[in-house]
Amino acid sequence: MQSKVLLIYTGGTIGMVQDPETGALNPFDFEHLIDEVPELKKFKVQLKVHSFSPPIDSSNMSPKIWLELSQIIFENYSSFDGFVILHGSDTMAYTASALSFMLQNLSKPVVLTGSQLPIGVIRTDGKENLITAIEIAAAKQRGKAIVPEVCIYFEYKLFRGNRTLKYNSEHFDAFRSPNYPHLCEAGINLNFNKQYIRALPSKPLKLNKALENSVVVLTIFPGINSSVVKSILSIKGLKGVIIETFGAGNAPTDATFLNELLKAINKGIIIANITQCMKGKVMPGLYETSRRLQEMGVLNGADLTKEAAIAKLMHLLGNYSNKKIIKQLFETSLAGEM
Ligand code: ASP
Repeated sequence: MQSKVLLIYTGGTIGMVQDPETGALNPFDFEHLIDEVPELKKFKVQLKVHSFSPPIDSSNMSPKIWLELSQIIFENYSSFDGFVILHGSDTMAYTASALSFMLQNLSKPVVLTGSQLPIGVIRTDGKENLITAIEIAAAKQRGKAIVPEVCIYFEYKLFRGNRTLKYNSEHFDAFRSPNYPHLCEAGINLNFNKQYIRALPSKPLKLNKALENSVVVLTIFPGINSSVVKSILSIKGLKGVIIETFGAGNAPTDATFLNELLKAINKGIIIANITQCMKGKVMPGLYETSRRLQEMGVLNGADLTKEAAIAKLMHLLGNYSNKKIIKQLFETSLAGEM
């Protein structure tokens, strides 16, 4: 039986055209995109398209649209074998991370892809990305999905979505998954790395809708001004902070700085520690400079990407109010993100 794939077009460079007046790239409707890829008609996959109107540049992505996307997938879940989301590459890793927490117990592929050059440009990377993403979304073995995960397919590699980051704004291989191996490599065949792909869940799909966006990322740097830190942590309604620290999770031991963090924690603000390094993880207590954070109750973000850490914090703050539960869940891998 032919696989059925729902293709959701949100926008992004893949479908953009140049404004003749300004020269800037703007999102464009899906019809012209389909015209550029006649190969789609040859597919042995039943494709249905859901197009956002108007399509957007992914810099305008938001939790509201994440909810819309997760709802489209949830409502169409039983009618399709897999889902492909066409999305701008700029915030694709954020969307993939958010969806991985919102779509709990996923047993079908949700593959995000896009391109660095619009589909109408002769050297576009969009065609290959789109065609292979559909193949992966449709791929089954013994009637079950091969990749039951939210993933990103770009330039011949499939990554776990909540492990990726956009690291290159110019090259076709725009994404990296520094702390987790790729799930598939597309050559003559699709070579799946089955040992790294999540197992099929035993429970049915659950949609976690709530996201709390009263969060901020605070990147530490030598010379960071305590009054700046103080004013960030005093933002009215602030619920969560991701601190991006040095190396294995280290931060200044300056008393004024640490005191501001402690005051925020005592007010009920959740603070979580991730590293500024692309590879590796937070190791609380390895140095005195991280032990202090651990002692005051800063959560351990281990090897989470910034994108996954933000999405995870928004998800947990949206769904739980008990600080102990938030801590416990934040430090546990929920969707293979850490
Ligand atoms: N600005 C574009 C977007 O994220 C870039 C891209 O698609 O690659 O929508």
